Amino acid sequence: MWNTPMSRNLTTIDPYRASTGYYECHTCSFRLTTDERVHTCPECGDPVRNIAVPRE
Ligand SMILES: [Zn+2]
Repeated sequence: MWNTPMSRNLTTIDPYRASTGYYECHTCSFRLTTDERVHTCPECGDPVRNIAVPRE
């Protein structure tokens, strides 16, 4: 009998886990994902925008 679920390795790869912490910089196209709130780009210092769209 097979008792091993095939979907087990999907738990480690989850790109949309932190949906609120996805930012992109207009100036240098720098992208970062973080759980913290970021307002400025760590690369060039310009404002970044949150490109994650929260569902309401
Ligand atoms: Zn930047």
